[in-house]
Amino acid sequence: MHISSSSYSNALIRQKCLDVSIIRLDLCHPQISGNKWFKLEPVLKRSLDSGKRRPLLSFGGCYSNHLHALAYAGYHYGIATIGVVRGEMPSPLNPTLQDAESWGMKLHFVSRLEYRNKTHPDFTQALYEQFGDFELIPEGGSSPEAVLSCANIWSFLAESDFDYALCPLGTGATAAGLLLGKPRDCHLVVVPALQISAQEARSILSQHLTEMSVSMPEGLTVLDGSSPYGKVNAELASLWYKNPNLWDPLYTLKMYQAFCRLAMSDTFPHGSRVALFHTGGMQGLRGCKSRIERLAPEFQGPLPL
Ligand SMILES: *Cc1c(COP(=O)(O)O)cnc(C)c1O
Repeated sequence: MHISSSSYSNALIRQKCLDVSIIRLDLCHPQISGNKWFKLEPVLKRSLDSGKRRPLLSFGGCYSNHLHALAYAGYHYGIATIGVVRGEMPSPLNPTLQDAESWGMKLHFVSRLEYRNKTHPDFTQALYEQFGDFELIPEGGSSPEAVLSCANIWSFLAESDFDYALCPLGTGATAAGLLLGKPRDCHLVVVPALQISAQEARSILSQHLTEMSVSMPEGLTVLDGSSPYGKVNAELASLWYKNPNLWDPLYTLKMYQAFCRLAMSDTFPHGSRVALFHTGGMQGLRGCKSRIERLAPEFQGPLPL
């Protein structure tokens, strides 16, 4: 696989003399976009190699990039998929779920309360009773093998000679992998896409690495997650329009916002080479484009640009 990167510039970047590249994981595959491809790859490979092709079951919200990617992968490789979806079935189905269903994913809607307890053995048991044999993939596809697969992302880059790299954090598997695989001299900045403290986010990362019996590498900064998951506010909406259709609104846009703020405050010395990991998720835009359009004009303050 080849991962392309594109050089990126704007007035702020020129003013601060930075050399910025966007690592385009979002362009790796038209449907299994971004980091989700790397997270699913070990499971798919195992399923195909074993020849058994057990159905794959996983979890997500109704705009889940993970379920969307899993549904397509299942369709492509001829493996049955089951999506356990949080909340009531929207009627009509939203575009994400429509896609998933058209690729043959069996959708199973559960209440928010049940969803919260989805790792409880009773809940898992009930799923086995209902769906028979399947392989359970954790929410977001995050597992030690997914972390390892994400560590391997670095090996597909034509160039990895960066002083800084930024990536978003959801379950943290991608960031943990990038941390594990990064060149020693590259400093990783992790930006939570949910409202958690830097300390909480750091402990998520350390948990992933502990599960794999490796220690935290040097060269990590974790930021506070400054806005709730899934929420686009007026500033983010307005920032989205600076590069329409470049960033997904839930993860990579927040990373870009954090990058702009750090650049503004001269965190990166002049001449620094900075990589922004575009982890994909563009399909999710269909769920909040109208919100972005509505909110963007409301933003009054200066953008961090
Ligand atoms: C799922 C997702 C993430 C978060 O990845 P984790 O490994 O769960 O931290 C980041 N960006 C996008 C676009 C995603 O869809």
